[in-house]
Amino acid sequence: ASDKTYPFVLVLAKSAKDLDGLQLKGKALLLLDRSKPWRFGLTEVGRALWGIRPGALVLIDDKRAAQDPSKRMSVRFVGEGSKGTRGRGRRLRPNRYALSTKAASELLSACGLDPKLLEGKKTGAFPIEGYTLHSHVQTQKRPAFAVNVLGYLEGSDPKLKDEVVGIGAHLDHLGKAPDGQVYNGADDDGSGSTGLLAVAKAFATNGRRPKRSLLFMAFCGEEMGLIGSGWYASHPVLPNESMVAELQMDMIGRNEENKRTGEKAEDNLNSLHLVGSKKLSDELHTICLEANEQFAGFDFEWDEEGVFFRSDHVNFAKKDIPIAFFFTGFHPQYHRTSDTIDRIDFPKLARVARLVYSIAWKVADLDHRPKLDRTYKEVMKAQGGRRRRR
Ligand SMILES: [Zn+2]
Repeated sequence: ASDKTYPFVLVLAKSAKDLDGLQLKGKALLLLDRSKPWRFGLTEVGRALWGIRPGALVLIDDKRAAQDPSKRMSVRFVGEGSKGTRGRGRRLRPNRYALSTKAASELLSACGLDPKLLEGKKTGAFPIEGYTLHSHVQTQKRPAFAVNVLGYLEGSDPKLKDEVVGIGAHLDHLGKAPDGQVYNGADDDGSGSTGLLAVAKAFATNGRRPKRSLLFMAFCGEEMGLIGSGWYASHPVLPNESMVAELQMDMIGRNEENKRTGEKAEDNLNSLHLVGSKKLSDELHTICLEANEQFAGFDFEWDEEGVFFRSDHVNFAKKDIPIAFFFTGFHPQYHRTSDTIDRIDFPKLARVARLVYSIAWKVADLDHRPKLDRTYKEVMKAQGGRRRRR
């Protein structure tokens, strides 16, 4: 349990700009947020608060205030396995609360502030003098059981078979919504898991084997902070040094669609994001481009959405293993219960799997391992540190 006391301040904002110059770090904000929606269910002000790091948030929000508080508090999953996942949690942190407009006006009156402030004409910060917010958070730890599933195919070269090409996807998704609806996760990451099985089947049924061995990895806990892959990378069944590359399929079954930028699915029938392949090894990147030209013919897009840190491959990149991440892009059903199987573009999914198969084959059959041009540390240094995960 933790007990904390914060200075308390009323914040009225219609846009992220209204927060400019306000000293809000470490304070408890009684927040009336009238800004526009941004992404992932956040508003522009909610987005701006990431950088500000208030100590606690009390949202003036009738809808949230009416919810069962136990459903508003979110669970934080802590991976036992890796430093990288420790302390990561889901978006809502426990020090968030909600008050109805009525309760907020009563509170303001009681504290000597004018409740008319909530009518929305003014913006800015109004310290609630003489009052602090005290939060008492009790946490409960419960062990959860989850498994990574691995498959191994031995290579054909007596020496090089001790090296391995890793191919990954994640088998978990978000479970159930508070209202009981199932998050289907057909694209995220049913599609990648399907691709993984298809690639494994293609290798297993081919009479010929490439020189190096193949390790097929279906990870758990990706959505909770890349926990399964973090565990694997810190408890590998084959030494990490023997993995010459890792290829990740996460969301490979759709045509990218973004209402905000006006990007339409029908314009993306042939597009595929190739993410991270150039970061550690130029050679791996070149192999991806060649294989695409020979066997798939996708129009590659790159990491426009900043997803390099957002799937399991990053835990391998951190071990200086060259990676490539295949991703058909975001869509309006991302992380919603409507990410359903009827929306999957199966021929496209199969083409992505075929591409990954051909890249894996090429890499596994090289007479040398793909050259590591930059370590993960060097990559991070060159790009000025890690961008926000979301
Ligand atoms: Zn995913």
